Amino acid sequence: MMDLSRREALKAFGVGTAGLLAAGAGCLAQENHSGVAGAARMAAATGKRRYELGALPYKADALGEVLDAETVSIHHGKHHAGYVTGANRILDQLDAARAGGDYGRIQALSRGLAFTASGVVLHELYWRSMSPERQEGPSGRLAAQVESDFGSVSAFADQFAAAAKAVEASGWAVLVWEPALRQLLVLQIEKHQDLAVWGSVPLMVCDVWEHAYYLRYQNRRAEYVDRWMKVIDWRGTGERFDLAIGGV
Ligand code: MN
Repeated sequence: MMDLSRREALKAFGVGTAGLLAAGAGCLAQENHSGVAGAARMAAATGKRRYELGALPYKADALGEVLDAETVSIHHGKHHAGYVTGANRILDQLDAARAGGDYGRIQALSRGLAFTASGVVLHELYWRSMSPERQEGPSGRLAAQVESDFGSVSAFADQFAAAAKAVEASGWAVLVWEPALRQLLVLQIEKHQDLAVWGSVPLMVCDVWEHAYYLRYQNRRAEYVDRWMKVIDWRGTGERFDLAIGGV
């Protein structure tokens, strides 16, 4: 197995071109967060790139004030892992389709790839959007950009939490860097792949699928979101922001 370097990972995921998937390299490329580099590796035997399940950057019970260990373990080991398996299976099926010249299932495969691979990228980023170490807020260039684009950190937080609480059905709230206007945006994501602004780089995400919070919070998504806002990893988000503004 061969780890991709940060630059290779960026190239592999197409940062600087377009798309939510491409933009996910911002999180995959953070070499200083243990396990993230493992999310995308090249299989030595075939030379084909395939996703891998990155290790959690902390113990499953480390976010105890917000998330219990059982929720984190199932979420990472079953749900997140399932997207890794699913995305790789579809990549294999696309290889087979090309080899056989049979595109009879191309619509289903294309849809499946968008769903599963976006699921991989967003879950990798989710684990790295939280920190067991309580942090007050953004600093450095990210802090200045948040003030510029949202007015204040609290105004950002109000919008992000409102977006997360109001996602229809299963989805996410995400803070993105939108390179065309060079601005931060808060977006909602439905499922894993819908409602993207293409070209945007996701910096921080809150998973509001029920599997993320149901064991402890049942239907009380708002309570989960309010607590979640207190464990944001602003340091890691700032590092991803610095990478995004330098790389696009
Ligand atoms: Mn999830």
